[in-house]
Amino acid sequence: MSFEILTGRTKSHLVPLEHGLFIHKDCYDDYFRLKGTLAGKKLELRTASSFRSYEHQRKIWNDKADGKRALRSKTGITLKYDELNCEEIFWAILNWSSIPGSSRHHWGTDIDIYDHSQYKDGKVLKLANEEYQGSGPNSKISDALFEHNDLFYRPYLDGKSYQMELWHLSHKKQGEKLQSLYTYEMFKKSIEMDSELLLKEHILKNLSYLYQRYIQLNGAH
Ligand SMILES: [Zn+2]
Repeated sequence: MSFEILTGRTKSHLVPLEHGLFIHKDCYDDYFRLKGTLAGKKLELRTASSFRSYEHQRKIWNDKADGKRALRSKTGITLKYDELNCEEIFWAILNWSSIPGSSRHHWGTDIDIYDHSQYKDGKVLKLANEEYQGSGPNSKISDALFEHNDLFYRPYLDGKSYQMELWHLSHKKQGEKLQSLYTYEMFKKSIEMDSELLLKEHILKNLSYLYQRYIQLNGAH
């Protein structure tokens, strides 16, 4: 069962969260605990994205690989697809998207959050760091999350795997547990068994590095 959970191939461990989203059943109570704590500070915790299936992640990946979806540089600038070779496209996708089977969103333990009270005037959530810093609409909730980090933490703050994502929260207990269960062999099997995955040869060529950096979050070596 853990191979299916870790690679986003099952929903059997999930329960409905809110607004049509799903979360790992062992994270549900803690989510509402955190929501209650933040409500006491007049912050309205809302999740924009939670569980994402393998097929969903593969659609994002393949759309970026064949130019149907924009590619962005590390600093967020849109790149010109036609001027990039396969190798460059591969690394450009990884600036902002996960290889299918390697996203923490597969586990149901990870969520992208914002302060809903700040978006009631029709403002559109971009999930950009500037919204969570300085005078941005989510800066208060972001600061509060640094104080209340016993149940959820942010795995992408140090830039060692993906770029910093101030909106991405991981359930501490279950997220760390699943990360420790996810072996290199599972990742390899997940990639090798998918005949529809684009840029597969680039993934396999760099598999050990990708596993360390994006699944075990051990940074670039
Ligand atoms: Zn996320």
